Amino acid sequence: MNLLRIYLIGSLLSLFGNSANSQVIRQTKGQFEDKFRQLDEALPTPNAYRNAAGQPGHEYWQQEADYIIEAELDEAARHIKANATITYHNNSPDTLEFLWLYLDQNIFRKNSIKERTLEFGGLGSRGPSTSAPGSGNEPAKMSFHELRRQQGLADREYGFEILAVTTEGGSPLAHTIVGTLMRLDPKTPLAPGESITFKISWEHNIIEENAIWGRSGYEHFPDDEREGGNDIFLLAQWFPRMAAYTDYEGWHNKEFLGRGEFTLEFGDYNVSLTVPDDHIVSSTGVLQNPDDVLTITQRERLIESENADRPVFIVTPEEALKNESSQPEGTKTWHFIAENVRDFAWASSRKFMWDAQGYQQPDAEVETVMAMSFWPKEGGDLWKKYSTPAIIHTMEVYERFSFDFPYPVIQSVNGPVGGMEYPMITFNGPRTDLQDDGERTYTMSEKLFLIGVVIHEVGHNYFPMIVNSDERQWTWIDEGINSFLDSVAGYEWDPDLPWSSSLPRDLVPYMISENQVPIMTQSDSVLQFGPNAYSKPSAALHLLRDTVMGRELFDHALQTFSQRWKFKRPTPSDFFRTMEEASGVDLDWFWRGWFYSTDHVDISVDRVYQLKLDTKDPDIDFSRRRREESDKPTKVGVRLNEEGGIQPWVDRHPDIKDFYDENDIYTVTNKERNEYRSFLKNLEDWERSAFERAVKENKNYYVLEFSNLGGLVMPILLKMKLSNGETKRLNIPAEIWRRNPKKVRKLIVLDEKQTLDSVEVDPDWETADAVVENNYYPRKIIPSRIEAYKSKRSGMSRRDIMQDSKTKLKTDDDDEEEKEQDEKD
Ligand SMILES: [Zn+2]
Repeated sequence: MNLLRIYLIGSLLSLFGNSANSQVIRQTKGQFEDKFRQLDEALPTPNAYRNAAGQPGHEYWQQEADYIIEAELDEAARHIKANATITYHNNSPDTLEFLWLYLDQNIFRKNSIKERTLEFGGLGSRGPSTSAPGSGNEPAKMSFHELRRQQGLADREYGFEILAVTTEGGSPLAHTIVGTLMRLDPKTPLAPGESITFKISWEHNIIEENAIWGRSGYEHFPDDEREGGNDIFLLAQWFPRMAAYTDYEGWHNKEFLGRGEFTLEFGDYNVSLTVPDDHIVSSTGVLQNPDDVLTITQRERLIESENADRPVFIVTPEEALKNESSQPEGTKTWHFIAENVRDFAWASSRKFMWDAQGYQQPDAEVETVMAMSFWPKEGGDLWKKYSTPAIIHTMEVYERFSFDFPYPVIQSVNGPVGGMEYPMITFNGPRTDLQDDGERTYTMSEKLFLIGVVIHEVGHNYFPMIVNSDERQWTWIDEGINSFLDSVAGYEWDPDLPWSSSLPRDLVPYMISENQVPIMTQSDSVLQFGPNAYSKPSAALHLLRDTVMGRELFDHALQTFSQRWKFKRPTPSDFFRTMEEASGVDLDWFWRGWFYSTDHVDISVDRVYQLKLDTKDPDIDFSRRRREESDKPTKVGVRLNEEGGIQPWVDRHPDIKDFYDENDIYTVTNKERNEYRSFLKNLEDWERSAFERAVKENKNYYVLEFSNLGGLVMPILLKMKLSNGETKRLNIPAEIWRRNPKKVRKLIVLDEKQTLDSVEVDPDWETADAVVENNYYPRKIIPSRIEAYKSKRSGMSRRDIMQDSKTKLKTDDDDEEEKEQDEKD
């Protein structure tokens, strides 16, 4: 224990500051930094469309786009041919001379900006190995995935082939394709309040998802017992979609580079999908013609599933297995209608099994939501057990932070896309592994992945499919809120499962890394996408909820945000403003630090002083000072003299001793006693009573000195251990840093009997504090591990060619033999 003991002379307040803070540590004018400066200068000026409270303004508007689409899937050619009638409603106060559409499939063209700007990372920092073999230089690298991607792009043409763009009546409409965008020039500008209807017909090849990687595509199963194998088709970003036109940006006509997803207009969809007649289709929207495409048994099972307690199979595993080897006799057209959605996606395959369970929301606008999952045998028990239940759990958790689920259907489909969300439908990748004995098993990580990804992608149906934030510019606003909520849902599913990182404590390695940019960075420019857009904002929200604001205020504020912007378009500033407005907590410092900077959290407790009040009474204070003097270690020279047998002169000649040998410098005389008397007499009455009470109480004053090494201002969470075994906790709000963000001192007053043994900062790892060592006072020895290793030597000249040249060349037969031998073993 290393507590410094300082005695205050006169008033304690004069040294460590009263309310006037005359002696607190101050910034100097050259280094002044205000971490609490209000954010208004960084946020857009409030206006009639979005106000200063973070609400949609009194003149808020948004556009609407309605689609009637007929599409046909050519399974053998992996090709879509389709036409759309689009009605665009100009609800803005502006006259539009032209309209923009997204042609996202064009990202797969060989000359797309994405393809041409793809950087090569395979050289490593030193470049390719040019020196002699064995020099130890790393060679340049290219992954098999990259080789396959290049081959996939070389083998076929991708992108939209626009066949015709016409007016409703059929006369051609001028249009210009600009990369992943298309500009349409109507014959007359579209005035405020007007609508325009036009038609587009197109076709495109579907990418092989596992080769080229998009957010949709086909997956081929060559091993299925069917001539030619089978495919699963996931179709998304598959039709020309109206680009967003907003009050804050006008046309969102920014090239699609693959990362920044998209933001779209709400509208109604009426879509007919023609597919091989042995396929099962899962799609955005509500199926309009079940009598045409489902069997009586399937329709009966669907009705049964509406009120079931557990998922009911609509297509059983046995039926799906049988379907896998069937051949279509023709086509079937599945007709779906979706109201007030911002996009439309679908999936089609004869491999799908299908289960469903109704989720009841009494008194909601939609009282029964059909939660449904579609998966091939490769999904196995993993999907049977967890997919549909995870959908239902998501709705149970998310509705508390937002609103009742507003659509009648929500689906999870297994396919080649790891995880992607569209309205009412999500694509999720995890699978089982087929073992040699024919059993399908799955790892703990596949299980976590499946539950986690279903929650995450279904969660996206709230953010951004309904709270329609702008992913093209700000990935974090939907991914961050959604990652936060999916981890809330994960911990409410089973807190013992090792969920992946999205809590503050998980973010430390990222937050101290060099390779990062602020969260408020345009989606396509973000470095370290996962931590930046997903887990750091998620950690920030956990911190706000559990540490800074408290659950009651946070949950109310997030729900306010969700409800204000349900089916509308919030921007980051609307979020920042609403969270403050609805909670009454000033958070500008928090947004500034976590969202606009790359600072990290590292608060150090540097020193702890224990202070006692001087009584000023010489009869008390002088003897205490004498005691302290004698407690000091003997001067080393004096000690060595004693040990060397050197007797001091005064001891050898005792006759020389006088008054001062009997009375040391701490001897009290009446002079001091009179001074003490007059000191007391000269005090004002209130001063004397405060002083006398303080002397009587004899409290322990502890001064804790903290420094902020990471830069982010944070609450100081303290756990203090007293010598009597008691533990005290104190949460000092971040505002303590408002006058000096680098160093602060805090006075803790304890009773006479309470002394402090130790102090710990952030004991529960709530704040992402990067350096744990400096969170203890006194400091603590940190246990860790060290590993012994054997050094390796390699290089061309070290090969034993003399021996190796005798090696026999292996054949397939040898492999078989080895395998049999292994099985016998
Ligand atoms: Zn996501």
